[in-house]
Amino acid sequence: MKAFRTVNDVWKAGLCMGCGVCRVGCPKDAVRITRDSSRGLFRPEVDACLCVGCRRCLKICPGIGFDYAKYDPVSSVNEDHPGGEALTSDCYLGHAVDESIRYSSSSGGVVTAVLLDALEMKLISGAVVTKFSDEDPLLTVPRIATNREEIIAAAGSKYCPVQIGDALQELKHRDGRFAVVGLPCHIHGIRKLQENDGFWKEKIAYCLGLYCLNNNSFNGTSYFLRAKGINIRDVKNIRYRGEGWPGKITINLQDGGKASFNRPANEPSLSERRLLKSAFHYDFMIPRCLTCPDLTSEAADVAFADPWHLGNLLKKEKKGKTLIRVRGLNGKKLIEDIRSRGKSVSLERCPPPDKYESKVEFASGVWSRILIRKKLGLAYPRFPGKVPCYSRRAMAMNLFYVGSYLSRFRRLWPLLPAASRFRAAIYRILDAVS
Ligand SMILES: Cc1cc2nc3c(=O)[nH]c(=O)nc-3n(C[C@H](O)[C@H](O)[C@H](O)COP(=O)(O)OP(=O)(O)OC[C@H]3O[C@@H](n4cnc5c(N)ncnc54)[C@H](O)[C@@H]3O)c2cc1C
Ligand code: SF4
Ligand code: SF4
Repeated sequence: MKAFRTVNDVWKAGLCMGCGVCRVGCPKDAVRITRDSSRGLFRPEVDACLCVGCRRCLKICPGIGFDYAKYDPVSSVNEDHPGGEALTSDCYLGHAVDESIRYSSSSGGVVTAVLLDALEMKLISGAVVTKFSDEDPLLTVPRIATNREEIIAAAGSKYCPVQIGDALQELKHRDGRFAVVGLPCHIHGIRKLQENDGFWKEKIAYCLGLYCLNNNSFNGTSYFLRAKGINIRDVKNIRYRGEGWPGKITINLQDGGKASFNRPANEPSLSERRLLKSAFHYDFMIPRCLTCPDLTSEAADVAFADPWHLGNLLKKEKKGKTLIRVRGLNGKKLIEDIRSRGKSVSLERCPPPDKYESKVEFASGVWSRILIRKKLGLAYPRFPGKVPCYSRRAMAMNLFYVGSYLSRFRRLWPLLPAASRFRAAIYRILDAVS
């Protein structure tokens, strides 16, 4: 941290996930978020002529780390609330009441439906959401949605980089209070902003967090399209989820054609599953995701997820359901308001899937990846308040993610199918010995 002078250095050190939050922390408007085309990532660029060296961008950067002890979601939002712990166990399964929203969103459309109710009930004036650019169908843009149509248009997960900085910058000039929908790292950035500037505590009424195992560079989508023989120039728009549960990847083409592909959970072919996992997990992961310990949006007011823990019970599900985890008093109040007065969400209580979540292998391997960076003398993110855990299996599995660093070199892409087969062989060996 001491060696960093601006967020440019965070990017160079490989700790930036391109969240865009530093853009709003800078009092001189010296930070721009740009797209690094070769790496397929968003990155900050500090204008040296405007920068006064105050390092405020660094203070709020979630890439550097996040203090879980200090930013407990209950105490950070409600400082006088004593034993908030018990609140964090509120858990629901739900879906949007409107069948078309439910069918076209990611899991059950609850994020979209909660926003619609919150807007209708005047709890918020709008929400920061993410949609695709009208000019470039593979590029994401953050938007402040202030009506029903805009909220619905942003539904669906984007498994590619998302920066929320431009929308937050615009919020500075808007009246009212807003919700922000974001990944755990976006929410970390917002909590840091709120801690450093009371304006953001007032401006952001709710942080709605998505669970996130990892996100991928734009190159992951390019690689997938290339493997499917689709020219990027022919793409009109892409949806990574939607069409019920567990959904499909749908690519609408400029000539009116449409290509539709299963997601890994409903793909019977092994080679297709390997391609999907290569493009959207192993080989094109945003490198900083390798050292992110927050799968479950712990700092959000309410966290939303796919209910994977239901396992076989999900096999009959066709329309979709969202898992909803209340994280603090503010989120509890929101969900209670929506249950009593809202019209858009159907919710039923369920036990929290803590046991399932604690066993997610990729997430528990974070600590060994942080350790490796430390041993190699590389910069690594700090997470005070989190207890590290290590396993030999996790250490061995780190080899699988080398592609995340190498895939920026397009000439290496033809090697990735062989890397997938190699991974599968090692998995078999590890399973046999453990
Ligand atoms: C990159 C990524 C990784 C995920 N990983 C997991 C996982 O490992 N396990 C799990 O259970 N769930 C994961 N999710 C969450 C899951 O895919 C659903 O988003 C969640 O279940 C909510 O579904 P919904 O139908 O209620 O949301 P919807 O009603 O479809 O609304 C989704 C909202 O999220 C916003 N959004 C979409 N993509 C992004 C993004 N990349 N960054 C910020 N905002 C975005 C949209 O603008 C929209 O407002 C992930 C989501 C993303 C985007
Ligand atoms: S705030 Fe976000 S975009 Fe800016 S340097 Fe940190 S991680 Fe990167
Ligand atoms: S894994 Fe962590 S760092 Fe990566 S996108 Fe998800 S929340 Fe952000």
